[in-house]
Order: sequence, then C-alpha cells, then structure tokens
Amino acid sequence: MKLQPNARFSTLCLHAGQTPDPTTGAIITPIYQTSTYVQDALGSHKGYEYGRTQNPTRSAVEANLAAIEGGKAGFGFASGMAAIGAVASLLVAGDHVVVGDNTYGGTFRLFDKVLTRYQLTFSYIDTSDPDLVARAITPATKLVFVETPSNPLMKLTDLAAIADLAHARGLRLVVDNTFASPAVQRPIEFGADLVVHSTTKYLNGHSDSVGGVVVATGDQDIEWLTFVQNAAGAILSPFDSWLILRGTKTLPIRMERHNANGQALAEFLAGHKKVRSVFYPGLPTHPQHALARRQMRGFGGMLAFDLGSLDAARTVLNTVRLMALAESLGGVETLISHPATMTHASVPAETRAHLGITDGLVRISVGIEDIEDLRDDLARALDAV
Ligand SMILES: *Cc1c(COP(=O)(O)O)cnc(C)c1O
Repeated sequence: MKLQPNARFSTLCLHAGQTPDPTTGAIITPIYQTSTYVQDALGSHKGYEYGRTQNPTRSAVEANLAAIEGGKAGFGFASGMAAIGAVASLLVAGDHVVVGDNTYGGTFRLFDKVLTRYQLTFSYIDTSDPDLVARAITPATKLVFVETPSNPLMKLTDLAAIADLAHARGLRLVVDNTFASPAVQRPIEFGADLVVHSTTKYLNGHSDSVGGVVVATGDQDIEWLTFVQNAAGAILSPFDSWLILRGTKTLPIRMERHNANGQALAEFLAGHKKVRSVFYPGLPTHPQHALARRQMRGFGGMLAFDLGSLDAARTVLNTVRLMALAESLGGVETLISHPATMTHASVPAETRAHLGITDGLVRISVGIEDIEDLRDDLARALDAV
C-alpha cells in the first residue's frame, strides 16, 4: 500500500499520513496512548521523546489533513479555538487583522475580549466585498481572516480575489474552512496561506470529538507553529486524532450526501409559502451563486431560512422531532438551531440586525438521513406555524 504522488481526493482522505503499523501490520494507525517514550541510550531515541511534543497518532492525522487541504504541514489542536489562537500567535503587539464581520462567535470573542489586551487590533469587515477589504488594510495589517460560507447567512467571500489583494500588499490570507470542509472547498488552491478548521464539525463528522487543525503552506509559518504547538501545549489528544482519522476516511461520501440533502431541503424551503427567504449557496437565487459554482464543489450541508417572527421560529424549533435542537454542526445527524438566541446570543442586538440575523431566522446543519424523512419532519413543523 503506497500512495502515488498524483493520488486523488478520496484516496488521500483514506490513506494520506497512514501506513500499516510496522510491528503488526495493523491497517489502522493505533491510538498511541502514551506520555513518554523509552530511549535506547543517552542521546539516542526514535524521534519521540514526550507526548506533548510528538505523538504518532497525531502526526498521522496532521499529515492526513495537510494532504487533503493541499498544504505542506498540519498542526492538531485541542479545539478549533486553540487552532485559531495558534494562528494569532503569528502576530506581535501593534499588528492589525482584517476579519469577516460575521465571523464565528468564538473567534470574535477571542479577538475582541482576549487579544485586544495584547495591543493587537481588528477591523470587522464585510469580506464579500473585496473593495471593503482593500480599504480596511493599514500599514500595520498582517493577516486577513475570512470564513466562507459565513455563519448563518451563507455569505461567500471570493477567495482568489482576497488572496490576490492580500499578497499584493505582503499579507497572509487565513481561511476558516470549517463550514465547507475540504471536500467542498480547498482555499489553498485559491491562494490561502493558512487554513484552520474546527475538526469538531465535518472533518470528524460524528459529533463525538472536539478538536482543531491549522494547515500551513509557508516554511516560516510551519517553523513557528511547530514551536508554538509544543510551547503553548494545546495539543490534540491521541484518541481525538484517531477519531478524526476515522472521520476523514468517509469525508467525501458524507459530504456528497450533505450536499444533496442540503440542496433538496433548500429547494423545499424555497418553495414553501411560510418561508420568507432561504440562504443556501446552491440556490440560483443566492446572490453569489456564480461564485459558489466557481469555488465550491457542491454547496455544503448548512442552510438558514427566515420565518418572519420569533414565534414562528419557536414553533418550528419546538415541533421538529427528527431534527435535534442543538448548537454545533457538521455531524451525520441533522441539527436545527436559532442563531439569534443560540450561536449569536452574545452579539449585540443592533449588530445582529445589521448582519441580518433576525429573530425569525432558523439554521439547519443538514445531516445524512433519508431526505424524505427530513422533509416530512420540516413540513410537519411548518404546518404548525
Ligand atoms: C465551531 C467553530 C469554531 C470553533 O471550534 P471549536 O472546535 O468549537 O473550538 C471555529 N470556527 C467555526 C466556523 C466553527 O464553526
């Protein structure tokens, strides 16, 4: 079993970073649940000294994720937020970052409540407009940090345009690719320098692990991230590494079903008389559908729709039976949530209004159940409105 240099996406998902265990031939990389490694003699070891610094299960998942994102090296962290924190450690006091104005709430909290204490500054910009991004860049800017599609309104950012614009000014582009997954979108192909993920979502895919990864392309970034992963120590555990390795083996076929179910549910909702608007990049009515076709392969499993009032949203959320009322996303089971009071509760009401996160907005992370069952569940809940 040897991976050829031209191996394609599904093959990489299954095999990259993994070789049969040299001592037993076990096809699956074992969970190396160990804190230390016995050395042969003083100053002589097998490349492994201490569990925070090196772990073979973590190395395997890091190589796997780097390969499927098309980067040079991956770094596993204890959560998506720890991964984003590691990226932020590339900055020094005085640096400025341009961030999407609808970035993940935890990212906003880290930037706004923690990192501003260290003389870092952030501008929150609608990155779907490259001109606004260009205008927000100052001589102190070091990074542009974007999420596409954004949460929960599925606004897209043109990755190639932002990468060109950033590179022309000597800046790095960081993309949080959690919502799309590398099966749907590979930002490095469009020029991104760093990709981060909450592996908690599609990469692990089974709602049973919390983790994060940074995939890097530049040698200097790789050197620093190698250092800081060990120095700060927010590492991904061996068991979580193993779960993600297991998850990425089925990522391509899971995403095919997430894409198909997402598209079908979006179309159903778009044709329903009680639904005011549907936000899904796969609908021809999505204002950036053409961009979605250029930079995504399939349109993902995330969608949102507006029912016009909190009462209507509450009725749907409390009436569905198959769909689970919960935060998070990207698992095989369908989750339904209310952004205004759940994921975006900490966002001030006026900012929510400005972003379009209304009280009638409902978000669905569409799972891989039979589409007829999902549609029946939603139809029944909408009938109750
Ligand atoms: C969940 C999420 C994160 C944070 O990841 P955790 O694993 O929860 O720390 C970051 N970005 C996006 C887009 C997310 O959905």
